[in-house]
Amino acid sequence: MPSDLPHYPHLMQPITLGAVTLRNRVMMGSMHTGLEETGDWNRVAEFYATRARGGVGLMVTGGMAPNREGGVFPGAAGLFTAQDIAHHRIVTTRVHEAGGRIAMQILHAGRYAYGPDCVSASAVKSPISPFPPKELDEDGIEKQIADIATSAARAIEAGYDGVEVMGSEGYFLNQFLVTHVNRRTDRWGGSYENRMRLPLEVVRRVRAAIGDAILIYRISLIDLIQDGSSWDEVVTLARAVERAGASVLNTGIGWHEARVPTIATSVPRAAFAHLTGQLRPEVGIPVITSNRINTPEVAEGLIASGMADMVSMARPFLADPDFVAKAATGRAAEIAPCIACNQACLDHTFSGKLTSCLVNPRACHETELVIAPAAPPRRIAVVGAGPAGLSAALTATGRGHDVTLFDRADQVGGQLHLAAQVPGKEEFLGLIDWFKTMVSRAPLTLRLNHEVTPDDLAGFDAVVLATGITPRAAGIKGEDAPQVLSYREVLRGAPVGPRVAVIGAGGIGFDVAEYLTHHGTSPALDPVLWRREWGVTDPDQARGGIAPEGPRPEAPARAVWLLQRKPEKPGRKLGKTTGWIHRATLQMKRVKMIGGVSYDEVLPEGLAITVNGAAQILPVDTVVICAGQLPERSLAEGIAALGLQCHIIGGADVAAELDAKRAIDQGTRLAASL
Ligand code: FAD
Ligand code: NAP
Ligand code: SF4
Repeated sequence: MPSDLPHYPHLMQPITLGAVTLRNRVMMGSMHTGLEETGDWNRVAEFYATRARGGVGLMVTGGMAPNREGGVFPGAAGLFTAQDIAHHRIVTTRVHEAGGRIAMQILHAGRYAYGPDCVSASAVKSPISPFPPKELDEDGIEKQIADIATSAARAIEAGYDGVEVMGSEGYFLNQFLVTHVNRRTDRWGGSYENRMRLPLEVVRRVRAAIGDAILIYRISLIDLIQDGSSWDEVVTLARAVERAGASVLNTGIGWHEARVPTIATSVPRAAFAHLTGQLRPEVGIPVITSNRINTPEVAEGLIASGMADMVSMARPFLADPDFVAKAATGRAAEIAPCIACNQACLDHTFSGKLTSCLVNPRACHETELVIAPAAPPRRIAVVGAGPAGLSAALTATGRGHDVTLFDRADQVGGQLHLAAQVPGKEEFLGLIDWFKTMVSRAPLTLRLNHEVTPDDLAGFDAVVLATGITPRAAGIKGEDAPQVLSYREVLRGAPVGPRVAVIGAGGIGFDVAEYLTHHGTSPALDPVLWRREWGVTDPDQARGGIAPEGPRPEAPARAVWLLQRKPEKPGRKLGKTTGWIHRATLQMKRVKMIGGVSYDEVLPEGLAITVNGAAQILPVDTVVICAGQLPERSLAEGIAALGLQCHIIGGADVAAELDAKRAIDQGTRLAASL
């Protein structure tokens, strides 16, 4: 595109919501970062101000509790005192100084509140919480509405441009809407008119509390649970919420207890945006679409085709705070992509850790991980262009060091190329492309197809050894037989028989099992296939969008046994928010997962194993070893002999439990200190 033409013209067009005109149609959706709970308000302010400087039109904060019983967890942040309001004012002031706009989300968790005082429409426990909620009486309901309205008024006092009322994802307001949770027979239950009384009353009272500020209502377009809302109900609610005073409707997808993935990397991009498009002609206010939108191309296409008036992206702003500024100035290829892995964001949130980002370790660490110019600049060799070496090389170059980056392969990316072969992990290709772009635009020397020896390193001031790992052998009798392959060989395309034993059920064992049971187009790239696989339909076909015929996955391409020695269910150490998806996918592909296995011998007729004292031979044609990894740092001694300073990072440092998150974080932090 010639540079004098506007980039992403639909996305970059201003839009007016109530009394506020936004500079473009990109919203950073709400994310719980954990920053507010640190009590370091400078840090909170810097997180949001960094994104405001990056050009986003509107931001929504993480959910703020309206009262103690509605907090997602005990001690969840909210605007309870004058001091809280003063703290939030630090954030809004900094954002406004940076030219941004920010709304505060009010999140009442209802029965998802992780504590014994949680409340809901009826005393129906959620399958994802140990705490049964208390059924609210009339006074109790009035208290919740009043607390939400008070919270909204305090948000405006704190300087926010508006509020978002969280009405989706199965939280409090959503719970009143469906008979699945709302079993009441009073004026708050029974008919749909009664069930939507609570959200409508909340919107009316919030509007009265905030004057003409922005009121976003996040509406659940597809609940993805049995007995969820019908499409008629969704439209009825949307129109009523508009009449009650909402300025804009934001899209919510799926309750948290839904057994359908909604934002993981294996979900096709913009998989649910058509539902926002379906809602748009039904209402007079703007609609915002969301979920698995991570590039300006996709976002622009959604606005240009009339699916939505605005696009909400959340995690992409962890990966790159400058998403909008780069898109607007023709530098979209430089946008660090969110690969929807959840590894450093949602997995952290659910483990009580501060949110960050696999791709951008500075996310939520803006004030602590500072990349300052190097004094004095030095000549640095980085050996290995996997994620650890790439991050170190780019960060060091950004600081002014004179960097040479070596790899023996013909392209950068290291093991990310193997990850990208796994169906549902195609987003890794975007990460590799981004690294390639950044390396090509950085003033560093790249030497590919170069197997480094210590002699290459003489003359450098320091060496960063990022040579990764070597796969570990399993040490099984007969492991050198031709039908035994390593995961590297398999993912690089080695022929594999129709019956396979996978030895080792860590992240790589699971990925290899998915790769081997799959054939044809990846469902992540084909929304129709994906919806069939997970049993999803549109809510105008079935309540909640749950297909009556259930999931209909493609038949597995091979019979696979996934084995581990630990006497526990395979997959326990997979990601907190994504492990269930991998387990469910393999179950759908009829993979037999067995723990407590001893490996006896690889035989021509199969793999001899013993489980619970019983010996058996699995009748497999191929055995794939995914038994973990060992550090590859054979150059270290030679470098030491040269008397050079040598820093070892990534898999070359510690192979156990290594992932790209640790590799990138370590590479970035090391280079920030060199
Ligand atoms: P590597 O990526 O191994 O890079 C090392 C580089 O050093 C290589 O490019 C190699 O060619 C080069 N090198 C080695 N020796 C020399 C030498 N002497 N001279 C020149 N060059 C040399 N991680 C996640 O976080 N999430 C995932 O979902 C995920 N999925 C995965 C799926 C699969 C199938 C695999 C195999 C891995 C996956 N990983 C995942 C792990 C992740 O890819 C690794 O943790 C990460 O790549 C390690 O980074 P690294 O830079 O330390 O090493
Ligand atoms: P891993 O997670 O450490 O798993 C290794 C597996 O091999 C385990 O199941 C282990 O279980 C088994 N094993 C270990 N030694 C063995 C031996 N001598 N003989 C037989 N089995 C043995 O390592 P990985 O699967 O190689 O993955 C490497 C890293 O890549 C992981 O740490 C992970 O973080 C990362 N990764 C992440 C993802 C992701 O989605 N986040 C995906 C893929 C990879 P037993 O000892 O019980 O048999
Ligand atoms: Fe996206 Fe993964 Fe970063 Fe989360 S950790 S923002 S999912 S790239």
